[in-house]
Amino acid sequence: MEQQALQRYLDIAVPTPLRRSFHYLSPPDFPANIQPGSRIRVPFRNKKVTGILLGYVDSIATDKHKIKPAEELLDTAPIVPETLCKLCIWAADYYHHPIGEVFAAALPNLLRRGDSPEDLQFVLTARGQETELKPRAHRQRAMIDLLSQNPQGLSRDELGEFSSAIIHSLIDKELVTKEIVSQQPFSHTRTDYQGIQPTGEQNDAIEAINSPGTYLLQGVTGSGKTEVYLRLIERMLDQGLQSLVLVPEIGLTPQTLKRFETRFDVTITVVHSGLTETERLRSWQQARTGQAGIVIGTRSAVFTPFAKPGLIIVDEEHDASFKQHEGFKYSARDLAVLRASWDKTPILLGSATPSLESLHNAISGKYTHLQLRKRPAGIAQETYQVISLKHKEPDTGFSPPLLKLMRQHLDAKGQILIFLNRRGFAPVLLCTKCHWMANCPRCDARMTYHLSSRRLICHHCTSESSVPQHCAQCQSSQLLLLGLGTQRIEEHLKLTFGDVPVLRIDRDSTRRKGSFDKLLDEINRQDPAILIGTQMLAKGHHFSNVTLSVMLEVDSSFYSADYKAMERMGQLILQVGGRSGRSEKPGTVVIQTHFPDQPLLKQLIDEGYNTFADTILSERRDNGLPPYCHQALVRAESTSRRLAMDFLEELEGANNPHVDVFGPFPSSMEKRAGRYRALLMISSQSRQSLHKELKEKILTAESSILGKKLRWSVDIDPIDLF
Ligand code: ADP
Ligand code: ZN
Ligand code: ZN
Repeated sequence: MEQQALQRYLDIAVPTPLRRSFHYLSPPDFPANIQPGSRIRVPFRNKKVTGILLGYVDSIATDKHKIKPAEELLDTAPIVPETLCKLCIWAADYYHHPIGEVFAAALPNLLRRGDSPEDLQFVLTARGQETELKPRAHRQRAMIDLLSQNPQGLSRDELGEFSSAIIHSLIDKELVTKEIVSQQPFSHTRTDYQGIQPTGEQNDAIEAINSPGTYLLQGVTGSGKTEVYLRLIERMLDQGLQSLVLVPEIGLTPQTLKRFETRFDVTITVVHSGLTETERLRSWQQARTGQAGIVIGTRSAVFTPFAKPGLIIVDEEHDASFKQHEGFKYSARDLAVLRASWDKTPILLGSATPSLESLHNAISGKYTHLQLRKRPAGIAQETYQVISLKHKEPDTGFSPPLLKLMRQHLDAKGQILIFLNRRGFAPVLLCTKCHWMANCPRCDARMTYHLSSRRLICHHCTSESSVPQHCAQCQSSQLLLLGLGTQRIEEHLKLTFGDVPVLRIDRDSTRRKGSFDKLLDEINRQDPAILIGTQMLAKGHHFSNVTLSVMLEVDSSFYSADYKAMERMGQLILQVGGRSGRSEKPGTVVIQTHFPDQPLLKQLIDEGYNTFADTILSERRDNGLPPYCHQALVRAESTSRRLAMDFLEELEGANNPHVDVFGPFPSSMEKRAGRYRALLMISSQSRQSLHKELKEKILTAESSILGKKLRWSVDIDPIDLF
C-alpha cells in the first residue's frame, strides 16, 4: 500500500467510565504528527470533552463513516510527558480502570478544562502606559495605577481585589495584556552542610544509594531516616536533578516542608488534596518545567511530571493511605517504584516498620535492604511494657498500674500520649433491660455518642440522630453508654489529672482550620500534658517531650478475620511507641491487653519487628497468602442484598487452573450507607493468570444486565479485604 493511502486514526483517552479509548479522524487542519500526550477537544455524546492523544491506529472496528473528526488541538507540544503517559496507560491496564478516568485523576482539573499550564501575568501595554488614556471608571484606574507601580507584571492572585470583568474590559481596550511568565529551572548553590554529621549507618545508606534501583531503608523510629533523605536530595540538587517525596498524610506536609525549607535554597512545591485548582496547576507546572527542585506530596503526587527526575522517596511506605480506596484504586507506592525504574532513577522506600510486601522483596534481593538499627548517640531507644487486663476490666480504660505510671511521668515533667483509634464519647448505647443497642439505620454498625453535640453519629455514613430517652424495643429508660472513645477518655483524665492540660487530637477537635496547628504549638511548648489521639497523632510527628506512649486497646486485631490485622497492629504499636523518647529522656511504651501472652505480641516486643515479620511471612507462605500470591477483588453494592450476590454469582468460578476464585460472600459490614455489599476474591500465584482471568470476568460483568443495575468495581492488590 502506498504511504498516502494509509488512513491513520487518532487514538484518544476520553473522560468516561468505559474501559477503552476512542478513535477520531484527524481533520485536515491538524498537523501530521501530533505527539502523544497532547490535549485534543473531541465531540463525545453530544458534548465536547478534552481527551489525551495516546497514539495512532491504522484500522478501526467501527464503521468508517460513523467516525467523527476531532475538533481542536489544544497543545503545540505534549502536555503530558512521555513517562507520565506511559504510567497512566500502564495503570489503566493493571488496575483495570477506565483510561479516561486515570488521566482525569492524574491531571489537574484546569488542564482538563482546557486551560494553559503556563503561569500568566498581567502587564500594561504601551497604550496603557500613556497616562492620558486612563479610563474614567474608578476601579479600572486603580488597577492601571497598581500595574504601573509593578512594571514587571502581576499575577491574577496578586490582582485578587479586581473582578474579572474589570480585567477583561481593560484587555478589550488594549490597555492591559496577558503574558506568559517564563519559568527557569531551579538554581541551587552547592553548600557544605555542617549541621548534623551522619552516623556510620546513615553514611552507609547514603553511599549505597548511588545508582538506579529500589532501596528499602528500614530505620527504627528516630534513627534519622530524614537526614538520609536530605543528603540524597542535596546530592540530586547538586546535579541539577529533582526529587519527589511522597508522604502518607496531608497533615505531615507542612512539617516536612518546614524541615526541607530550612535546609535548601530551591523552590519546593507541595501537592495534596487541599490545594485550590490554581495552586495544583501551578505546582504541576513548576515540576514539569524544572522550576521546583523538590516536590512533597501525598498519594496523587506520584503523577507529577518532572523535567529532570532524579530521585523518589516514599516515606512511611507501609502506610495504607498510599492506596486509593475510592474510584481509581491505585497504589502510589507501587506506581512510584515502576516510574523510577522507567526513569532509571533510584527510589527509596523508608519505614521503621516496612510492609511485608517490601520486606519480602528486600529479603528476596529484589530491593536493596538498608538498615538503621540505632538512634543517633544521645537519643535513647524506647522500652516496651505490657500491662495485663486479665483479671479486672477497668471501667475507665485505665488500669491502676498505668495510672500510677502516668503520674510518675507527669511529675518528672514529661508528656504522655494516649492512643485510641476511636473518636467520639462512647461507641455503644445499650438498653440494660433488653440489650437493644442504637444501630445506624443505614449501616450494620452502632451509632457513636458524641459529647459536644450530644448526638448519635454513625462513623460509616455520617447519619445523625438525637439520643433516645427510651429503648426503641422495650421503652425502658435505663440506657447505658458503653465503651471508650477519645472524648470519654478526655473527660476521665481531666477529672483524674486536674493539674495538667489534656489535649485531644482527632478529626473532631481539628476540624476547624488552624486548630491542629494550635494544638501542635501547645504540645511543642513542652510543658507536662496528656495528649489523646487517634491515627492522626500516630504518624510521623516529632514530639520531643513525650516520655510515655500508651496503647489502650489492641485486642481486636488478635481475633480479626482480616489476615493483615496483625501486621497492621505491629506497625501501629511501633509507630505509636516511636513517638516517645525522641530526645535525651528515655521513652516508655505501655500496651494494655487481655492477652499479654499472645505469641506475636511477645515476639514483637522481645525480639523486634524483623522476627515478628518473619513469623507472619512464614504463616502467609504456608497459607498461600500475599506476598506469596496475588489477589484481586470484585466488589458489588446495591440497595438490594440479593442483587449484589446474584451479580457476583455470574462471575463465580475460574477458567484457569492456576487461579482460585472465592465467594461471592457478603462484606463483613454488609450494609453501609443503605447499600448491601458483597465481594468475590480472585487469587493466583501468577500475576499474568490472575489478570487474564480478571479481564474475562470484567467482560462478563460489563455485558451483564444485573451489572447495569448496581455499582461494581475492581480492586487489585487489595489491602482492605472486607
Ligand atoms: P526518623 O525519620 O528516622 O524517625 P528523624 O530523621 O526525624 O528520624 O531523626 C530523629 C532526630 O534525630 C531528629 O531530631 C534529627 O535531627 C536527629 N538526628 C538525625 N541524624 C542525626 C545524627 N547523625 N546525629 C545527631 N542527631 C541526628
Ligand atoms: Zn430495651
Ligand atoms: Zn451509618
